[in-house]
Amino acid sequence: MTARIIDGRAIAAELRARVASRVAGLGFRPGLAVVLVGADPASSVYVRSKNRAATEAGLATESIRLPADTSQAELLAVVARLNADPAVDGILVQLPLPPQISPQAVIEAIDPAKDVDGFHPINVGRLAGGLPSLVPCTPLGIMKLLAAADVPLSGARALVLGRSAIVGKPIAALLLAANATVTIAHSRTRNLADECRRAEVLIAAVGKLEMVRGDWIGKGAAVIDVGVNRRPDNKLGGDVAFAEAAEIAGAITPVPGGVGPMTIACLLENTVTAAERRRRPVPPG
Ligand code: NDP
Repeated sequence: MTARIIDGRAIAAELRARVASRVAGLGFRPGLAVVLVGADPASSVYVRSKNRAATEAGLATESIRLPADTSQAELLAVVARLNADPAVDGILVQLPLPPQISPQAVIEAIDPAKDVDGFHPINVGRLAGGLPSLVPCTPLGIMKLLAAADVPLSGARALVLGRSAIVGKPIAALLLAANATVTIAHSRTRNLADECRRAEVLIAAVGKLEMVRGDWIGKGAAVIDVGVNRRPDNKLGGDVAFAEAAEIAGAITPVPGGVGPMTIACLLENTVTAAERRRRPVPPG
């Protein structure tokens, strides 16, 4: 293996410690409310991890569990209550939601100032416009991994594989803001392997186990593997064939232990950022 392994667990632990010391200096406990509708096992695990990490960082957490048959109106009423609660700085409604609830309606109901997932159209628009915003946690975490690994971005050719609103589009906006030359690839892209090979920074966010093979990687490229997929043996695997890619890449994230831990750490950071902005508004100008 030639690539440096970018250790997301270690980098996330450092970020969580920085968040905890920011919280300790605030003089109040920022509040994070996490809403889970139904009992999807994967979502339940995510929510538990988020609550545990938030408590460890000194945040006040409120965990709201609603039955799977909750109506959209009932969920919107919970969101309205949290929007109005001055002790709540961040609101996260765990996705996916049951079919009777429109995720977009819920996302748009969250106060953009408390939108720690960064999915509200106001935050999406501010990010696209290069304005300060609450940035979605996974793309924010990717930028921090690239920074911690000293990957140069200015002028670099970056390829984002995947164009979802949660990962692909926001990471493309962040890379562009960092002066990379960004290409976004997706299921209709021709010659995907060639596009990937040209990239100096490759972000894989497709959700297809080991779709990106070693011979798709440019020599020395930085490879960030966002994918979380189940292997036939039920273990987790990424979108990149790790062992093959690590022979050619300059730096690479593993799955698990790469992007995943950063997502939760960035949720904590976003909650503290939201708390600081809401409770200590910066005067205009
Ligand atoms: P989506 O399913 O929303 O998007 C997948 C994207 O990949 C789409 O843009 C799709 O293209 C593209 N795609 C799918 N198949 C191909 C293909 N064969 N060739 C080229 N492009 C393809 O997924 P998400 O963005 O939400 O998530 C991506 C992965 O990242 C998943 O494995 C998910 O579990 C993981 N993830 C991990 C997180 C973490 O914290 N580690 C957080 C969020 C996601 P098109 O638009 O044309 O359909």
